[in-house]
Amino acid sequence: MNAFDPQAIELHQSSFVFDGHCDTLGEAVAGSSRRRDLLTRSEKGHLDLPRMRAGGINAQIFACFPGADRLNACPTSAALQRLEVFYDLLRRAPDQLTLIETAEDLVALTPDGPIGGILSLEGVEALAGDLSLLHTFHRLGVRNIGLTWNPRNAAADGVDAGADFGLTPFGRDLVAACNELGIMVDVSHLNAAGVEDVLAISRKPIIASHSNAKALWDHRRNLSDDQIRGIAEKGGVIGATFVSHFLNPNFREASLDDLLDHIDHLVQVAGVDHVGIGSDFDGCLPPPELDSGEKYPAVTQGLLRRGYAPADIRKILGENFRRVFLEVML
Ligand SMILES: [Zn+2]
Repeated sequence: MNAFDPQAIELHQSSFVFDGHCDTLGEAVAGSSRRRDLLTRSEKGHLDLPRMRAGGINAQIFACFPGADRLNACPTSAALQRLEVFYDLLRRAPDQLTLIETAEDLVALTPDGPIGGILSLEGVEALAGDLSLLHTFHRLGVRNIGLTWNPRNAAADGVDAGADFGLTPFGRDLVAACNELGIMVDVSHLNAAGVEDVLAISRKPIIASHSNAKALWDHRRNLSDDQIRGIAEKGGVIGATFVSHFLNPNFREASLDDLLDHIDHLVQVAGVDHVGIGSDFDGCLPPPELDSGEKYPAVTQGLLRRGYAPADIRKILGENFRRVFLEVML
């Protein structure tokens, strides 16, 4: 465990930390070779409830990512299995975890109370092209929808689809239905034409839960300055991410400093009210300084050392994501 400056620890622990993305639910799915119990502190992976608590996380978006190998198998069951992992945790540890479905739920979180979990689909393969299933997943608590992962699906093209088509008619209906139901639309992984379409048609702010800046590293998963500005102008938030491959062209050299560079750039282009953090814990290879939820205060310490005002650091750590979810959820 790193030793952090007392000032950084104090600021971090007193901030509302809202992490925009993790794939941790996949770590506890029955039958997974990596299966571990998220109630117990583990040395494996990056997150579990004890490490979230130690890292000062107050709210966390839990993605249901079917897994690249499952996209063509049964993504609906893969999503349901991940939701069940969350519900199983809720049953066993209601004092440690709570489901956030409404703005009221989010407001009700307290620093020492349970961590707020927001459920998310990463890619809409689980909907099988059927809008009625969006209502089912909404009833199951899903409040964030990443329209695509990297490939094409019924809604849109991901960054690896190899074409630059925008949203399909289904994708457009989906965005409208999300707006109506109070589900956040998340454009991380979406191709450029898709992001443009979402910016044009969404009636509510949107987020990119885990993406960095293309101006610093021209990776297909990073956002152009125009996209960053577009999301900010819509009142949304971009979550800077710990993914080494998006931080540095040489991913083996990716560091906390690279993350801070991306945050600096996002703040310059979007403004400090539109930048957050989406770690992608348990879905990526993070830099060594950030390879566990317990190391979250390293971000706060790094921002302090770069001269950020504590009030601005609080915005980046979570107040911005909190604000935009309060605005979009019903
Ligand atoms: Zn992702």
